[in-house]
Amino acid sequence: MSISQAIEKVEARYAHQPEFIQAVKEVALTIAPLYDAHPEYETFKIFERLIEPDRVIGFRINWENDKGEVQVNRGWRVQFSNALGPYKGGVRFHPTVNQSVLKFLGFEQIFKNALTGLPMGGGKGGSDFDPKGKTDNEIRRFCYAFMRELHQYVSKDIDVPAGDIGVGGREVSYMFAMYKNLTHEYGGVLTGKGVGFGGSLMRTEATGYGAVYFLENMLAAQNDSMEGKTVLVSGAGNVSLHAAEKANMLGAKVITVSDSQGTLYDESGFDQEKIDWLKKQKEQSKPLADYVEVFGGEWLAKQKPWKFKGDIAIPSATQNEVDEDDAKLMVENGIKYVAEGANMPLTAEAVDYVCLHRVHYAPGKAANAGGVAVSALEMSQNSVRQYKTFEQIDERLKAIMKNIHDCAAEASEKYGQTDNGYINYMAGANIVGFKRVADALVAYGILN
Ligand code: NDP
Repeated sequence: MSISQAIEKVEARYAHQPEFIQAVKEVALTIAPLYDAHPEYETFKIFERLIEPDRVIGFRINWENDKGEVQVNRGWRVQFSNALGPYKGGVRFHPTVNQSVLKFLGFEQIFKNALTGLPMGGGKGGSDFDPKGKTDNEIRRFCYAFMRELHQYVSKDIDVPAGDIGVGGREVSYMFAMYKNLTHEYGGVLTGKGVGFGGSLMRTEATGYGAVYFLENMLAAQNDSMEGKTVLVSGAGNVSLHAAEKANMLGAKVITVSDSQGTLYDESGFDQEKIDWLKKQKEQSKPLADYVEVFGGEWLAKQKPWKFKGDIAIPSATQNEVDEDDAKLMVENGIKYVAEGANMPLTAEAVDYVCLHRVHYAPGKAANAGGVAVSALEMSQNSVRQYKTFEQIDERLKAIMKNIHDCAAEASEKYGQTDNGYINYMAGANIVGFKRVADALVAYGILN
């Protein structure tokens, strides 16, 4: 079955899973030159095999709210591919979670993890549970109930979940406690644990910092730097605020952050004091809009950040948050670089638009791989039971992000995708990630 036939099959079979189809097509359309150069991939039906997860585990979660009422949610773990290591990928708690979203995230995760060069397969999980408006006791009871179901399918050498939207250090700690309680095992079954009980220094910062390190490499490839650049960030979560923090540290000025309620604009830029305030505000689930009373600036209810002028955009909220109209605004407003902090924040049309206008564009699987890379370092620290310093992890993260950048740029060049200095990072990243997984699968024969 050719790649185009495989796409047709996915479209017919999973018509009700639009995000998954979108992610599959993005990879399929860029790996053709690699596939043509490797007839063994076709012989072993590698693409056809990789678009079907090893398994999708679904379960029900019963838990009690503070009033003692029984609540019922749905949960899943998509174990996509363990060709390169244990399944690895976050857990998302958000009402929009369904199989399409988790399959797209799990599929992306296979190639992202491969790009890091570290031994991890790809997976993703989550629940349609909405943490908003829940008390700490309710969050704790839900996390315990979620892990009570999930624990039988995961372990440090089989499948290692982590956080994602709606799942941060607090939730990971609750889930880790339940896993430990049920299995009596103290190990690296989850990453993003608290520092002091198995967590790695810098895991919290890693995705956002890594995205900015990737950007530094993109800019350097164009003989440019972060210094003095104006940056638009979307989201106000873990990835967004740490991306803003690192951009600020490197001399850029971040003028927007956002959340599901609107956009916060500060012409003078978010310095460390303001970023610390934002982190605290979001931790306490308080409105971003309160910022204006403390620091000034402007709150734009129900609006996105892309109407402002800038040099760099780091969309870091959620999938498909940037559509073609937003992409047009970015181009009109002078954006020259887009690095995806979130997974697939640009629609396919938005990607086409920015690339057509030669905006340097880094897909999430390359730009936001720093988080999972430090998760892999957490796993190895758990195994040897020795911990590295913040500076040591930071150096590794920088080196990993540079390596991902350079490998993607080289593949773009090698497979004829670089056009007059304009690097096709999407093609390059997909080719490198796919090749590493495909070569392992060919070596295994017909077993996954
Ligand atoms: P958080 O839950 O910490 O933050 C998510 C942010 O996005 C919040 O500000 C939230 O606003 C906002 N948001 C969510 N949905 C929407 C929406 N529909 N419209 C506008 N804003 C929205 O999540 P993370 O920062 O961890 O994750 C963000 C993205 O980065 C996701 O795509 C995730 O998969 C990806 N990612 C995360 C990694 C990590 O290490 N955490 C690693 C790699 C990728 P509100 O608070 O109002 O809900």
